[in-house]
Amino acid sequence: MRTAVVNFKLPGGGADSLTVEDGIITEFGVSGRYDRTFDLNGHTLIPGAVDVHAHLREPGYEYKETILRATQSAAKGGITRAFAMPNLIPVPDCERNLAAETEIIKRDAVIEIYPFGALTEGEKGERLSDIEGLSKYLKAYSDDGFCVNDLKLLEEGMYRVKAVGGIIASHAERRGAKDSEAAEYEAVAEELELVRRTGVKYHFCHLSTRKSFELVKAAVREGLDVSCEVTPHHLTLNKSMIVDADWKMNPPLRSAEDVRATIDALTEGVATIVATDHAPHSAAEKARPYDKAPNGILGFETMFPAIYTALVATGKLSLDRLSEAATAAPAARFGVGFGKIVRGERAEFIALNTTDYRRYSADEILGAAKNSPYIGMEMTGFNAFTMVGDSVLYKAKDVKEV
Ligand SMILES: [Zn+2]
Repeated sequence: MRTAVVNFKLPGGGADSLTVEDGIITEFGVSGRYDRTFDLNGHTLIPGAVDVHAHLREPGYEYKETILRATQSAAKGGITRAFAMPNLIPVPDCERNLAAETEIIKRDAVIEIYPFGALTEGEKGERLSDIEGLSKYLKAYSDDGFCVNDLKLLEEGMYRVKAVGGIIASHAERRGAKDSEAAEYEAVAEELELVRRTGVKYHFCHLSTRKSFELVKAAVREGLDVSCEVTPHHLTLNKSMIVDADWKMNPPLRSAEDVRATIDALTEGVATIVATDHAPHSAAEKARPYDKAPNGILGFETMFPAIYTALVATGKLSLDRLSEAATAAPAARFGVGFGKIVRGERAEFIALNTTDYRRYSADEILGAAKNSPYIGMEMTGFNAFTMVGDSVLYKAKDVKEV
């Protein structure tokens, strides 16, 4: 099949059209006959994002979300690969439990999904999972949602993950700290001590306090194999804005000063990765009183517009740097590929509408869950087109097949 993709911009300028032939970008420009042509209405073409932190809820929590609908929502948001956190039933802590998840992924996922293996059995923090057995299928381990507070167990896990060439993604939250901010940075400090001892490849999820970033910055400078991610919500929202439980997540929204620290971490390159922590919940769960409602908000569809509107449109971050943090950097860190917009590469690109502002609405969300604090906000930078191989996974109304 020959597809022409025309009328786009590249962030650095250059070609405004390209040809995809049997899923491969064969030339910049168009020539000859085509089976179909997509007019991108001047939108900005960048590679599909690689989200290293998502909760897809299946198997086990289908009443919150399914892999089919979650991945359709990801494709709409411009995410073409995502890592699925292991807080599922069953928890993927051995080959058999992992198979229950990968069967559904094979059947239903519309984008590439990489499961995390659990670091401990059932994510209970008591015994390590079958790290070696899981390593035949994956390289990334996490107990996200929980912190492994047993440091002896965590250290043993680090040695075993290192031995299989894997990476650990840590939800750093120390039990018994004086407040939620200290819980984060004290855990970061303790875990870095073990990283120093074991030499494991280590990644901190969703960091959100200035002290955490200072610790990571020093560790990287020291030469430890450490990275961290920041989320769109910790970059763009603060605790004074909280309305209801659709604004509740863990780590929680912080002070305006911590938001500034999170932005600094991204713009200065201390945080190299942006990840959504996409976490669907049912309407009934989020309708509970605030302190009884579960943690987590949607992230797939609003990652690009939230960050674009707050940081790129205001000149604090270039689109190239945003794209790098959303795609090339996470792909490199977690050892997967991504869509390079280069002749001879497989098509895997998206197109951001960076000219129009519009209000995000609950009706347009493709997932089953609607727990997003961004509903009603006016933003720009929404994705308008997602193409992977020969498949068009998402097309906004203003992108025409001509
Ligand atoms: Zn977490």
